[in-house]
Amino acid sequence: MYEITQIKAGSNCYLVTQKEAAILVDTGLKGFEKKILSECEGKQIKLLVLTHGHIDHVQNAVFLAKQLQVPIAMHEKDVPLLKDNLCREMKANGVRGKLVRFFSVWSAKMTQLDSFVPDILLKEGDKLNEYGVDAEVIELPGHTAGSIGLKVGDDSLLVGDALMNMFRPEKTLLYEEYEKMIESARKIEELGDRKIYFGHGKMASNRRWVKENA
Ligand SMILES: [Zn+2]
Ligand SMILES: [Zn+2]
Repeated sequence: MYEITQIKAGSNCYLVTQKEAAILVDTGLKGFEKKILSECEGKQIKLLVLTHGHIDHVQNAVFLAKQLQVPIAMHEKDVPLLKDNLCREMKANGVRGKLVRFFSVWSAKMTQLDSFVPDILLKEGDKLNEYGVDAEVIELPGHTAGSIGLKVGDDSLLVGDALMNMFRPEKTLLYEEYEKMIESARKIEELGDRKIYFGHGKMASNRRWVKENA
């Protein structure tokens, strides 16, 4: 059996713990690194997974990987974001989406990111058993080209920002590519009954995320 612990750090990080091993998923914003480290205390962290390359998920990656002495893993297609978080335009729909976009662009402009190169590149179907947890990578492009999720066991799914629960559980409010984002939301629907752990907001059950006519 495994356990998923949510750590609120500006965005959500998660500890997926199985027996004595654990992986850390995402790293939150600067200022939260000590909180995250203390949550990791006493656990044997084997890997740091980044769901995508946005600042609010990768900002503490270098610091935490060094402190925990673990490799950093992510999808190849988001590596360019580590050099420049604004290198690909984000689009948004509706008032809430535009509001969220305004604040993310602003924070990306205000923030200095220590650029880094991931140690491991993840792709669809990669299993993380060698790091001690029963998790499998699922590609969920759209929010960013290299967005990934993690299927944990047979009843949980970490989605990063492929879906959001900032205001209510819904499809992501920000995206590089609308069609891919919709495709990824449908891919999540097809996984059926699972607990969804978002990059923003609290856990909710899987459901229909896309209206029929979307
Ligand atoms: Zn994001
Ligand atoms: Zn985010």
